[in-house]
Amino acid sequence: MFWILILSLLGFSITAAYRGINLLNWTLGMALILVGFASFTNVSLAAIIILSVLFAAIAVPLNTKSLRRQWLSEPFLAIYRKMLPTLSDTEQVALEAGTVGWEGELFAGNPDWDSLLDQEWPELSAAEQAFVDGPTEELCQMLDPWKISHELADLPPEVWSFLKENRFFGMIIPKEYGGLGFSALAHRAVLQKIASVCAVTGSTVAVPNSLGPAELLVHYGTDEQKNYYLPRLATGEEIPCFGLTGPTAGSDATSIPDIGIICKRKYKGKQVLGMRLTFDKRYITLSSVATIVGLAFKLYDPDGLVGDKKDLGISVALVPSDTPGLEIGLRHFPLNVPFHNGPVRGKDVFVPLDALVGGIDMAGHGWRMLIELLSVGRAITLPSTSGGGAKLAALATGAYARIRKQFNLPIGRFEGIEEVMCRLAGYTYAISALSRMTATAVDLGQKPAVPSAIAKYHATEMARQVVTDAMDIHGGKGIIMGPKNYLGRGYQGMPIWITVEGANILTRSMMIFGQGAIRCHPYVLKEMHAARMDDQVKGLEEFDRNLFGHIGYSIGNAVRSMVLGLSFARFAAVPTDRKTAKYYRKLTRYSAALAFASDIAMLTLGGKLKHKERISGRLGDVLSQLYICSAMLKRFEIQGRPAADQPILAWAFHDAIYKIQTALGSVVDNFPSRGVRVLLGVFIFPLGRHERQPGDRLGHKVSQLLMSPSETRKRLTDGVFISDKASNPVGLLELALPRVIATEPLERRLLKAQAAGELDVIDMQTQLQKAVEQSIITADEAKELEAVREMVTEIIAVDEFESSYLRMGSHGKEAEPISEQAA
Ligand SMILES: Cc1cc2nc3c(=O)[nH]c(=O)nc-3n(C[C@H](O)[C@H](O)[C@H](O)COP(=O)(O)OP(=O)(O)OC[C@H]3O[C@@H](n4cnc5c(N)ncnc54)[C@H](O)[C@@H]3O)c2cc1C
Repeated sequence: MFWILILSLLGFSITAAYRGINLLNWTLGMALILVGFASFTNVSLAAIIILSVLFAAIAVPLNTKSLRRQWLSEPFLAIYRKMLPTLSDTEQVALEAGTVGWEGELFAGNPDWDSLLDQEWPELSAAEQAFVDGPTEELCQMLDPWKISHELADLPPEVWSFLKENRFFGMIIPKEYGGLGFSALAHRAVLQKIASVCAVTGSTVAVPNSLGPAELLVHYGTDEQKNYYLPRLATGEEIPCFGLTGPTAGSDATSIPDIGIICKRKYKGKQVLGMRLTFDKRYITLSSVATIVGLAFKLYDPDGLVGDKKDLGISVALVPSDTPGLEIGLRHFPLNVPFHNGPVRGKDVFVPLDALVGGIDMAGHGWRMLIELLSVGRAITLPSTSGGGAKLAALATGAYARIRKQFNLPIGRFEGIEEVMCRLAGYTYAISALSRMTATAVDLGQKPAVPSAIAKYHATEMARQVVTDAMDIHGGKGIIMGPKNYLGRGYQGMPIWITVEGANILTRSMMIFGQGAIRCHPYVLKEMHAARMDDQVKGLEEFDRNLFGHIGYSIGNAVRSMVLGLSFARFAAVPTDRKTAKYYRKLTRYSAALAFASDIAMLTLGGKLKHKERISGRLGDVLSQLYICSAMLKRFEIQGRPAADQPILAWAFHDAIYKIQTALGSVVDNFPSRGVRVLLGVFIFPLGRHERQPGDRLGHKVSQLLMSPSETRKRLTDGVFISDKASNPVGLLELALPRVIATEPLERRLLKAQAAGELDVIDMQTQLQKAVEQSIITADEAKELEAVREMVTEIIAVDEFESSYLRMGSHGKEAEPISEQAA
């Protein structure tokens, strides 16, 4: 009976930890068990007394706040203060920026799936849909990507005019200022469609709608600034650019050396208070066509002209590009995707103080403004454009793999190609779900700082893989540049999207987990605040409350991680009324494991975790994949759980879960302390590592789904531009695909006859004639085969150029051959 008592106490404690029961209820439950055993069983009184004393020794101080604070919280607070990483103001701003949404649930170890499934899922309004189907479609029809990228290195005048007339540059500007006032979802839909045709146009439209003058003015501008600039930006009368980056300040943008000195000067005939700006910016998109330049710089007031503070901090101003002293440099040439981009410099450029976005009141708040808005911009621009590129690559590659034959078979039937093509479909599904979920978060009023970093990093990385896979499947067809090549430039340009808006290595290793751990953790930020409070008594009170919440939370996650690991999460509380229940179970298990591993990492490494980027990067990968899986499950539900899509979801899901296991496994295997390695291993993988990469049979099903028209293929690639004209290479692929499929039995009949020696092949034309004569196929079938073969010939054709054309300079004039120039 004694052992039953011990097991009951242990079992109750484990259940209490698993269920997150609070300290008081745990104490009452334990006491009840002891009293119950003492009253109704024959456990010896001595044993009950010993256990009760032990229990009281733990429970009384824990439940008596004054004792707990004095004995535990106060000494721990002293140690904690020493462990706390020193945070600069700018880091502090970054950590506090944005809101916490679904990622907070995933991070805390016990996601409430019903809340995800019940979350609103807005759709495009009728007007937004009409814009996507109308002006956006029309724009895409107008675009000639080869001409734009190779010959003009610019958009043709009619495209610039069309963009301005239809207010493409004012998607995020409210209607009352003449903009389109679009939702994030509509913004996403437009960018996705344009990016599926032409990256130069995509970037040109994306930048004015992303972090820049319009976004800054909408949120922080004075009424005067809004009334003046927003209508002009909406119609494209003003073209904006925004300069933060410089030669010495890239990823570490807060180190900008650019300065503004508050001073008085004569300006337009009057003595005014203003700033002398000296700056050197590079990589600035649209700079070469900009009429208004947003600038970030550090503002100083050495003569105390606006107050006592001499160093006001990072500030943001709008400077007309024709301001004397401002120099728009020549153009950079970003990886063969020549959207406008270049340096902007200035020395002692004078502008009045009202050039500051938000006026003098917002001086010094520039970093907060940029960080807050970045979380919104990053949730939309790059995930949407990556989605557009990936969808187009998936669509075209599936069709090409069916149309292109080698060894008498469509190349897509070979296992080697299948192995690559299933990844292409799975990642496209994942990117689209991820981008939809982050855009939806923005529409629901969030500022999704952590999800937007997840979306930026993973959408661009997955798109890079998709485009690389698509290139490999296309072979030489993807390599030979020219109007017939719909992939090569996307492939060349991929590193651009990896680098902009926070280069990816930094985003993964510093931002996703670094920001996520503190932002999403239910206690850490509160503990940090408490530890930094000036009021010591209040600080201790706050710290104590959060510390004990935190301890309960950590024990709960440790127990949950172990129990879920031992039971393969079979009993996890998930939506069970569907086939995907097992997916939710796995996510719940790894969510608990992430919460536990994060706490252990923070507890044992403290401030050093900031520099342990391998660990934080891998923990960030776990959070990211949990988020991506959630987005895919939500997408699957919203689309009505289409059974035909299940293989793609399953492939993408298993791939993500395997990545979670790999990332967590690498954290366990590489943790600096041996003791912690053992602890993590036991609690996270109590029965070993059993996740497997998606199997071959599944991969086969998925890759075949890309190779014939179907509702699944349509859903996977919805929202991209597909021309119905045979003159468009992807349009031609889509026109040919059903006809190629319909004529496959005829091709097989011909091959069979050939193998049986009934049909000679001298040339294709004669073969068809003979096949008709010998009644292997009918005359109508021969006609259709001939037409389809012509289409296929056109599809697999690549471009050829005169040498003189290839030597063409960027102004469309034929350049001298290099050897002659040298002579
Ligand atoms: C085509 C293009 C358009 C752009 N448009 C604009 C624009 O309109 N306005 C603007 O202000 N800026 C713009 N940028 C700048 C862009 O935001 C920066 O390029 C980016 O922030 C990275 O800076 P960097 O290129 O100097 O790289 P660096 O900062 O030198 O970074 C080099 C590498 O080191 C990594 N790294 C740096 N620090 C860390 C760290 N702590 N941990 C791990 N890895 C780290 C980075 O991830 C990167 O891989 C543009 C850039 C390009 C290429």
